[in-house]
Amino acid sequence: MKLFAIFGDPVSHSRSPLMHNSVFKSLNYKACYTRVHLQDGSKLRKTFFDLSLDGANITVPHKEAAFRACDEVKGFAQKIGVVNTIVKEDGKLIGYNTDADGFLYAIKDFKNIKKILILGAGGTAKALVNKFLDEKLHVEVLNRGESRLHYFQELGIICHTWNTLQVQKYDLVVNTTSAGLKDENLPAPDAIIQNLLQNTIFVADAIYGKMTPFLQQAKAHKKEYKDGADMLLGQGVLANELFTKNELESEDIKTFMQKSFDL
Ligand code: NDP
Repeated sequence: MKLFAIFGDPVSHSRSPLMHNSVFKSLNYKACYTRVHLQDGSKLRKTFFDLSLDGANITVPHKEAAFRACDEVKGFAQKIGVVNTIVKEDGKLIGYNTDADGFLYAIKDFKNIKKILILGAGGTAKALVNKFLDEKLHVEVLNRGESRLHYFQELGIICHTWNTLQVQKYDLVVNTTSAGLKDENLPAPDAIIQNLLQNTIFVADAIYGKMTPFLQQAKAHKKEYKDGADMLLGQGVLANELFTKNELESEDIKTFMQKSFDL
């Protein structure tokens, strides 16, 4: 029996155990997926081994700590320094990132996206910005604090704080902050949010499982919007393929993971 877990703080809201266990049970794969409330990201590696895990997902705020915890980091995760999936291979921790491809899957119905504003500058923002750059899209970042913007400035990205933003026209505004996750905060002051929503076509929020204050405002502005559920599904299918080392069919993983959303 293999054992997997999600690490986060908070983590009680996470649907990942339900999603992965639904796949394992339905496809008779001998594995179980649990959750670990981890407050200190520097203890991730030790906790992983103490629990004899075979793999893990990592959520807020430990994705950068997860990068540091790995013996080797592959592909897109290496490029961005952010890991959301760890698989134990030959006793070593190998890191991956499935968030960005999960997000592209989520917004596939939004057509003709060329100019994007990302709210937030954490791990999820790094993943999405790099993916959008790979796709040759114009992307800018707005964050509350300045320090996390340095990474994006070094990429040559136009960055704003709440004080410096001059709102333009966007095709898509995405909330990747954790504002609204366990509180009722907007990701920026109300005046900025109202202005942004008047000047964008599409809206997305990485948070899932609740109508965030940001999405409530998007709805009030009659914008087409997506919450983080499809992103969650996309990243989850890709993570499950890594956990099961491609022994299961992708379409089957997707079907049973999707079904768990109704539970
Ligand atoms: P990080 O902790 O790496 O980054 C959080 C960001 O949010 C920082 O830029 C921080 O700004 C900003 N922030 C936090 N609180 C506030 C606030 N009250 N107002 C404005 N900005 C704020 O988080 P992650 O990037 O890992 O995750 C971000 C969100 O995305 C989480 O809610 C997570 O659940 C969700 N997520 C969903 C996924 C899905 O599959 N649907 C996948 C991945 C993430 P500052 O620098 O100023 O502190």
